[in-house]
Amino acid sequence: MNTSMRTAMCGDLGLADVGRTVTVCGWVSRRREHGEHLAFVDLRDHTGVVQCVVDGTADVRSEYVIQVQGEVRRRPEGTRNLELGTGEVELGPCTVTVLNPADPPPFAVDDRQEVDEVVRLRHRYVDLRRPRLQANIRLRATVNRAIRSAMDAQGFVEVETPLLWAPTPEGAREFVVPSRLSPGSGYALPQSPQLAKQLLMVAGIDRYYQIARCLRDEDLRADRQFEFTQLDLEASFADQTDVLGFVSEAVLGAAESATGERPQHVVTMTWAEAIDRYGTDKPDLRLGMELVDLSPVFDATGVKAFGAPCVKGIVLRGGADTARSKLDALTERAKRLGAKGLAWFRVVGDAPDGRALESPLDRFLSETERSGLLDATGATRGDLVLVVADTHRVACTVLGHLRVELAGRPVGEGPHRYVWVTDFPLFDGTGEEGHPVAAHHPFTMPHPDDLDRLESDPASVRSQAYDLVLNGWELGSGSVRIHRADIQSRVFAVLGITPEEASSRFGFLLSAFRFGAPPHAGFAVGLDRLVAIFAGEESIREVIAFPKTQSGSDPMTGAPKTLTPSVLAELGLRVLPPAD
Ligand code: ASP
Repeated sequence: MNTSMRTAMCGDLGLADVGRTVTVCGWVSRRREHGEHLAFVDLRDHTGVVQCVVDGTADVRSEYVIQVQGEVRRRPEGTRNLELGTGEVELGPCTVTVLNPADPPPFAVDDRQEVDEVVRLRHRYVDLRRPRLQANIRLRATVNRAIRSAMDAQGFVEVETPLLWAPTPEGAREFVVPSRLSPGSGYALPQSPQLAKQLLMVAGIDRYYQIARCLRDEDLRADRQFEFTQLDLEASFADQTDVLGFVSEAVLGAAESATGERPQHVVTMTWAEAIDRYGTDKPDLRLGMELVDLSPVFDATGVKAFGAPCVKGIVLRGGADTARSKLDALTERAKRLGAKGLAWFRVVGDAPDGRALESPLDRFLSETERSGLLDATGATRGDLVLVVADTHRVACTVLGHLRVELAGRPVGEGPHRYVWVTDFPLFDGTGEEGHPVAAHHPFTMPHPDDLDRLESDPASVRSQAYDLVLNGWELGSGSVRIHRADIQSRVFAVLGITPEEASSRFGFLLSAFRFGAPPHAGFAVGLDRLVAIFAGEESIREVIAFPKTQSGSDPMTGAPKTLTPSVLAELGLRVLPPAD
């Protein structure tokens, strides 16, 4: 990384360099004077910090940009600093040239100091000098590089799709860009390159990918930003198995580049299995505590509370000493999540087999039910069993939540357990006008075995849509697309989209499909999330160079800014008073 101004990097210097005269450049991390005759300057560049010894005084302050020339020498005995990568050596005697003085920094460039996030973002250029963020941003570049190389190796072509685009049908609120040349008209910034990539398949690109910026005007949370980045891809003459293979190759390659280890293969399970075993479509496989089906144990029960279509349980190992107040709180939580109640059983000792139960319901259980409960759950002395009886969906989702709340761990904490969830339902609930709502998007291909029920029982129709989940976080989703006009019209009809509406919203796609659309399928991986997990960060803001705050503002530039009257006039816009 040498340039005309430097011959070495600060963090690279070590015992092997002793005797070399080097020139390094960077920012003053710290300066200490020892009387009038000796000064120590810690110089930082992105590789690390090196101590520079100056005979006399050094007229520099924190964050001054300087160039230092000196000889690498072994530090005197007793002054080695093993916390510092370069702590066995120092530069000296040094000549210091100030390249640019600096105002005192708004906060110390130091990972150990907690700084208010707004202050950090207002001076992001200083914040980014901190080693943690330097590492995150560089990790991101490493991940991008690994992804590009995996995609290139699989024959994918990187194509850039437009940012100024027509509104797309993926359901999120879009950012609109008013048109100056056609007042009253506008573009939408893409929620994703979904339709563009499908058009590229019609165009014969065969395998497309892009590290694409996507924009959605949605409420922000720790893991959401208005603009985010996806590895977006699409392949022709390919089905679900092919896409799962392409994406696994890219993501596992990225994981290897980031962590040094290639994760073992990715587990695959259907959506129905994920709900049944984990109570969620984003199962965290690190946690154990699978949901156990207790319906057979209680199918002829006299316990009223268990007289429901489905009885499910989870076991909290070692949880028998959970306090009554905590159990009451868990019951309240289960009710808020939609259950009618929560039954609990502490497994305590004393019965002939050492597995007696303690529970308000215990005296209502038959001996067969008591041992059935223990055998089915595998609970032993010291454990706690939590049971919900309800519809299958409610029992599973309530216990799924409790499982994560009781055993959940930070997403980045190892091991990294990847899982493919396939066969999602095609529809998810009903919209305002009583029509089913597309669970993924309206171009998702129904499962071939369920096509005949599309109109008669849409809620039971599975799709060829799939998600990639890592440690309980959804990393991305995709689907096999509908490429045939007859199936597309049937899906639109079920969704309540009239032919006129379909043609006005995405007529360009439908007409393209009349000119030879190959079967195709694709996927998009959220890269901010992936890098955040690799970096061990809870918030994606820590892996984005210039993120917005949680209220969507940028304290550094002041965006969003009031538009001046002349800008509004040029765009033919008038601002209405705020609605009450
Ligand atoms: N466009 C979809 C999304 O952004 C992904 C896909 O189906 O390829 O979630």
